[in-house]
Amino acid sequence: AKERGKNNYQFYNSSLHEKNEKKMRIEGKLRKALEHNEFVLYYQPKIELSTNRLVGVEALIRWYNKELGFVSPADFIPIAEELGLIIPIGKWILREACRQCVEWQQLGFKNLSVAVNISPRQFKDPSFIQTVVNILEETGLSPHYLELEITESIMEDIKRSRAILEKLKQVGVKVAIDDFGTGYSSLHYLCHLPINTIKIDKSFVDGIHISAEKVAILQTIIDMGHRLQFEVVAEGIETRSQVDFLVNHSCQVGQGYYFNKPLSVNDFEKWYIAQAFA
Ligand code: C2E
Ligand code: CA
Ligand code: CA
Ligand code: CA
Repeated sequence: AKERGKNNYQFYNSSLHEKNEKKMRIEGKLRKALEHNEFVLYYQPKIELSTNRLVGVEALIRWYNKELGFVSPADFIPIAEELGLIIPIGKWILREACRQCVEWQQLGFKNLSVAVNISPRQFKDPSFIQTVVNILEETGLSPHYLELEITESIMEDIKRSRAILEKLKQVGVKVAIDDFGTGYSSLHYLCHLPINTIKIDKSFVDGIHISAEKVAILQTIIDMGHRLQFEVVAEGIETRSQVDFLVNHSCQVGQGYYFNKPLSVNDFEKWYIAQAFA
């Protein structure tokens, strides 16, 4: 809890009773949030580190409810997952992100790809592949512009996950392993799965300011990713020295507050136009 900031610290320290109450309040509102149009997507730029060039965006959901105020996805996504609401909400996220990407491409934003977070329950849902295919068709997005971010938890059912990943590869969408290094991943399985990208978790990027051991781990993950022919993306970059370290260790792509926070559609468009003419 200690590394997560004041607000979360309070959340962790509150009694079980308070936590349940908070959860129940979220539950009730969450069931209605889609039909009340309370969700929006924000977009965080992914940057090619050596050139500062935009290579894509990651869609991140935001929820504002009149009574609850802003609720963090870290708080409500796990609840949506538990209640199964992540299936309709996830479908909305995927459709909205693809639609927006096409709109930007039509406005002339070049080579813009979009990454969408997929929660484990969504990934395992029997209709998931068909949903992806339908949304690509509906929105007209070329599959190679879509990247799905999944977590290492898929390794728990390697046979089933492999079958899903093979189908996604046939569809032509890309797949990234998010928060890489924080979960259980058998390297043996990992290197035999049809995955395009590993996203190194922020905790490792933070490590370069902490100790030589952490530096060694980060360096090892980057090297391993390259040797296994994955694209390697670093998340949570906050300082210039992290950028320098990553470039020196040939990590090509990164995201983080050092470049941008996740931006509203409006702010992203303003930023895009400003940097395109800079
Ligand atoms: P994630 O997928 O690992 O997303 C990265 C989180 O780190 C985002 O928080 C982002 O705003 C934040 N972040 C980005 N750069 C920095 C930085 O430099 N420093 C710091 N301290 N934080 C940074 P966010 O948007 O609050 O999302 C939290 C988590 O909620 C996400 O972690 C993801 O697991 C989940 N989530 C968010 N949006 C979605 C979504 O549309 N679908 C699903 N299934 N999950 C989502
Ligand atoms: Ca992510
Ligand atoms: Ca992540
Ligand atoms: Ca993370």
